[in-house]
Amino acid sequence: MRYSQERLYAMNSFAYRIKRIAALTLALLTLAALTACGEKPDPADPSASVIDVADDPSSPVTAAPTAVPTPTPEPTPVPTDTPEPTATPKPSQAANPSYQGRTIYLTFDDGPYKYTDQVLDILDRYNIKATFFTVGNFVKAYPEQAKHIVERGHVLGCHSQTHEMANLYHGTDGFKKELNQWRETVKSVFGYDAGAHVMRFPGGTTNSTIGGRKNRGPYVEAANSLGYKAFDWNVCLNDRWLAGNKDGLPLNEYFWKSYLDSLSMYKNIEPLVFLIHDTEPESVKILPRVIEDLIAKGFKFGVCTDLDDNYLM
Ligand SMILES: [Zn+2]
Repeated sequence: MRYSQERLYAMNSFAYRIKRIAALTLALLTLAALTACGEKPDPADPSASVIDVADDPSSPVTAAPTAVPTPTPEPTPVPTDTPEPTATPKPSQAANPSYQGRTIYLTFDDGPYKYTDQVLDILDRYNIKATFFTVGNFVKAYPEQAKHIVERGHVLGCHSQTHEMANLYHGTDGFKKELNQWRETVKSVFGYDAGAHVMRFPGGTTNSTIGGRKNRGPYVEAANSLGYKAFDWNVCLNDRWLAGNKDGLPLNEYFWKSYLDSLSMYKNIEPLVFLIHDTEPESVKILPRVIEDLIAKGFKFGVCTDLDDNYLM
């Protein structure tokens, strides 16, 4: 069949437009997911300013890295202006065949912290093992909670020593130093090397300080060269990104919606890696409901040390 030049041009132009739209959609979806699940700090949360403030690209990080990181002081009590959970979230689709028998990896970031024991109690109740990506300074500040993670059969992973983006992502030397400091901290707190060789990049591997996906290669190689596998995430509660709660939902509804939306968005991805922060009291509150929903959907639970490779978004 022969086409006129004009017709060929129109077809090419149409195909080009479709390709452009597909590429743009993919880019937007990726951006939405990364933004949605990003460890954005909540400025109203006092603990956020302690740990995660550097994840916010808009926050000026000017302090020079200190040679010997000091434990962060005890954060002030939980904010009282958190809305009480009132609405009952809609039950999600149970026993979805696409989830039946699949494994999901629960991961808890930024601790250990004063809520970690509550998380461990909940995990025990459902006989689930999880991965805790811990901050070295907090292992030092909350040694008992750190030990409970290991004693109760979970994986103690690395989430850097200080969680300070300025220390981590301005050259791989500083990055490697943070990973080594974390391990030395674990050794000194436990009296032996209780740390696994799994890690999560603070802010994820595509964070803006690192310069996004195109610049992460040397850092991922650095982590791998020290024996670590690195794990981003896909499912999340958005529990460090309250700015995403545009509709002003009660936190429990916002977390629940974020969980369902992100699970649905990534349902065809392997592995499903679920980011939760054990520094957030509202996350601990909703955890049993989320776990029961995952069980109802047919999921099994695994730890990151079972995975053979990095998982990078
Ligand atoms: Zn973090």
